[in-house]
Amino acid sequence: MKLAVILPAAGLGTRMQRTLPATPVAETTGTSRKQFMLLEGAPILVHTVRKFVASPLVHDIVVAVREEDIEWVSDMLGRECRGLLGDLKVVAGGNTRQESVENALAVLDPATDLVAVHDAVRPFVDLDTIRRVVMEAGATGAAIVGIVPVDTVKQVSGAQAGGAKVRSTISRERLILAQTPQVFRLDILRRAFEAARVDNFSGTDESSLVERLDQVEISVVLGSDRNIKITRPSDMDLARLFFEQETARR
Ligand code: C5P
Repeated sequence: MKLAVILPAAGLGTRMQRTLPATPVAETTGTSRKQFMLLEGAPILVHTVRKFVASPLVHDIVVAVREEDIEWVSDMLGRECRGLLGDLKVVAGGNTRQESVENALAVLDPATDLVAVHDAVRPFVDLDTIRRVVMEAGATGAAIVGIVPVDTVKQVSGAQAGGAKVRSTISRERLILAQTPQVFRLDILRRAFEAARVDNFSGTDESSLVERLDQVEISVVLGSDRNIKITRPSDMDLARLFFEQETARR
C-alpha cells in the first residue's frame, strides 16, 4: 500500500503574535511563523518530517509552504530526507490550510493508495500513532487521530474572545478533539475536496470535508495529549520539555 504524507506548512502564524517576512534562515523562538521556529537547533517542520521519514510505512512526502520559502525549504528537507524516501516535493501553499492541502494533493503520484495529512506544527506525533491510524485507514478508508477532552465544554453565544454567555453544556462522553494525522484513501480525499470546492465549503481539517460525503465513515484512533499543535507562544515551553524527554528516551 503506497502511503503519501501531506504536511501543510504555509501558515503565517498570526496566533504567535508576530509575523516576520520570509527569510532563508530558520526563525528564532517566539518571534515568527511557528513551523520554522527552532527547537534545539532545527526548525519544527524538520522535526515533524523526521518522524515520517522514520516510519517504514511512508513512501512520499509533500510539504506546502509559502511561495517565497520553496527554495530554501526544498534544500533543507532534501538534505534531511536524502535516500530515505521515495519522493519529497515542496509546493506552494494557499491562503487557507485547505488550499495548501489541495495544492499538495494535486502533485501526488496517482499510484498513491493512502494519504496522511499532518499539521507541520505537530512534531511530537509518535510512530505507533502513525502506524495505528494508517492501518485503520487502510482497512476502512478513513481514520483520524483524536483525544478525549478533559475540560467541560460549553456552547456560548457572543464573541469567544470576550462577552460570551454560556448557553449549554455539551456532554463530554460524545466528544473527541481532532488531531492529525488524518488518513484517507486517495479517491475519498479527492472526492471530498471536489465536493467542498463545488459547495464553497471550508473546513479547518480534512475530516470535516470527508464527513460531508455519503457512505464514508471515519474511524477515530485514540492519540496522545503530547501530540500538541504548536500554536501559541506558551506551546514552545511545552515543546522544549517534550523534546528533552523524547531525546532522553532515545
Ligand atoms: O492555522 P492552523 O493552526 O490551522 O495551522 C495548521 C497547519 O496548517 C500549520 O502547519 C500551518 O502552517 C498550516 N497552514 C497552511 N496554509 C495556510 C494556513 C495554515 O499550510 N494558509
